[in-house]
Amino acid sequence: MPRNRRAVIIGGSMSGLFAAAFLRRIGWDVDVFERSPVELVGRGAGITTHPELMEALENSGAGTADLGIEVPKRFAIDRGGKIIGERPLRQILTSWDRLQRLLRETIDPAHYHLGHTFAGVDQDGSKVRVNFAEGRAEAADLLVGGDGIRSSVRAHIAPDVQPIYAGYYIWRGAPNEADLQPETLRRIFPYFVFFLPERQQVIGYPISGFNNDLRPGHRRYNFIWYRVGDTQKLKQMCVDENGHQHAYSVPPPLIRKDLIAQMRAEAEDIMPEVFLDCLRNIAQPFFTPIYDFSAPSLVYGRVALVGDAGSSSRPHMGFGVAKAGGDAQALADALASHDDIDKALARYDAVRQPIGERIMLHGRKLGTHLGVNLKTEEDRRMWQLLQDEGAMMDWIAVPNFLAA
Ligand SMILES: Cc1cc2nc3c(=O)[nH]c(=O)nc-3n(C[C@H](O)[C@H](O)[C@H](O)COP(=O)(O)OP(=O)(O)OC[C@H]3O[C@@H](n4cnc5c(N)ncnc54)[C@H](O)[C@@H]3O)c2cc1C
Repeated sequence: MPRNRRAVIIGGSMSGLFAAAFLRRIGWDVDVFERSPVELVGRGAGITTHPELMEALENSGAGTADLGIEVPKRFAIDRGGKIIGERPLRQILTSWDRLQRLLRETIDPAHYHLGHTFAGVDQDGSKVRVNFAEGRAEAADLLVGGDGIRSSVRAHIAPDVQPIYAGYYIWRGAPNEADLQPETLRRIFPYFVFFLPERQQVIGYPISGFNNDLRPGHRRYNFIWYRVGDTQKLKQMCVDENGHQHAYSVPPPLIRKDLIAQMRAEAEDIMPEVFLDCLRNIAQPFFTPIYDFSAPSLVYGRVALVGDAGSSSRPHMGFGVAKAGGDAQALADALASHDDIDKALARYDAVRQPIGERIMLHGRKLGTHLGVNLKTEEDRRMWQLLQDEGAMMDWIAVPNFLAA
C-alpha cells in the first residue's frame, strides 16, 4: 500500500481548520499546529456569511447547524435615528466563536496541537521539515501556512510580502442584548444597520451570545465604528496602558483608558442614541487597524498559503472566512486531481491567487468611502458613488459580489 500523503498545517483558526478538513477528505494525513497554548475563543466578534462560506462549511463536514441569526433587511439611519434608506436582504450573521467551534469539531483532537509555534521550514524538493520554537520537528509532503495576516510561514518564505495599512481603523465590541434599552432593541437590534457620517461608518448587526446562545434576550449586537487615522496616529494608539509601544495593535485589556474615554466622548458628539446605547454597554471596546495585501504567489516549493496568510482584504465585504474556506477547498481539489503534488500546487496557485487579489482590490474600492488616499480618477468616482447611503447598502457586505 502506498503511504498516505501528509500535510503539516500551521494555524488552528479558520483557514488551518478548513485546510485540515478538506485535506483529510481526500485521504491525506494532517496535523494542525497552533501557537496559542489554550483553545481559541472569543476572538473578534461578528462574521457576515456568504453563499461561498455556507458551501465550504457543508463540503468540509463542519456543517451550518445553529450558525447564527437571520436579519430580514438592512437600513441606514440619520443622527436622529430616523431611517433614511432601506434594502430587503436576508442574511445570516454568525460569530467567529461559532465557526471555530463547528470547524474544530471536524478534527480529531489527537491531530490538533496547541502550544506549537512555527519557527522555520527546510525543503528538499519533495519533502518539508518543519521546526517549532518549542523544539519539535515534523516531516511532511506539504506545509500549509494558515497562520493569518502576520503569517510567520510567509515571513519565512516570502519576507518581502507585507500587509499595508489602509489609513483607517475600527473600534469594535458587542454589547449584550439584555443590557440594551427597549428603544435600541426595537429600532435596530433585529437588523443590519448603517450610520454614515462623513469619513466614518458605524455598522451594527445581531450575533449570538456567549456559548452560541441564540435565545432572545441572550444575544449580542456587533458594533463596528470605522475611523480615519494616519500611521502617526496609529502609532500613538498602539502605546498601551503601561506605556509599552506595540507594533500593530494592542491587546484589549491593555488599551489606554484615555484613548477609550476620548473615543466615547467623540461618539457622544456624533452618534444616534441607539448606537450610543450600544457603545455605552461595551465594557471593553477595542480597536483593529485595517491592513490588506495579496501575495504574488500562494505557493513556494512545497509550501502553500491559505486564508489571510496568502491575501487579506479590508473587511468591507465580510468575506475573509469564506475566502479561507474557498482556498482550502481549492487546494484539496487540486491535490485530488493531480498525482503530482507540484503540479497540483501550481494549479492551486493559478486558481486562487487571482481571486485573492480581486477580493483585496474590491475591498480597496469599498474603502474609498472613507476618503483616504484617493489616487486615481476611479478612486474618486467610487468615493463619490459611496457618499450615498443607498450605494453603501448595495455594496457593503453583500453576497455574490465576486460574480458581479
Ligand atoms: C474587523 C474585522 C472584521 C471581519 N469581519 C469578517 C466577516 O464579517 N466575515 C468574514 O468572513 N471575515 C471577516 N473578517 C476576516 C476574518 O476574521 C479572517 O479572514 C479570518 O479570521 C482568517 O482566518 P485565518 O485562519 O486565515 O487567520 P487567523 O484567524 O488570523 O488565524 C491564524 C492562526 O494562526 C496562528 N498562528 C500565527 N502564527 C503562528 C505560528 N508562528 N505558529 C503557529 N500558529 C500561528 C494564530 O494564533 C491564529 O490562531 C474580519 C476581519 C476583521 C479584522
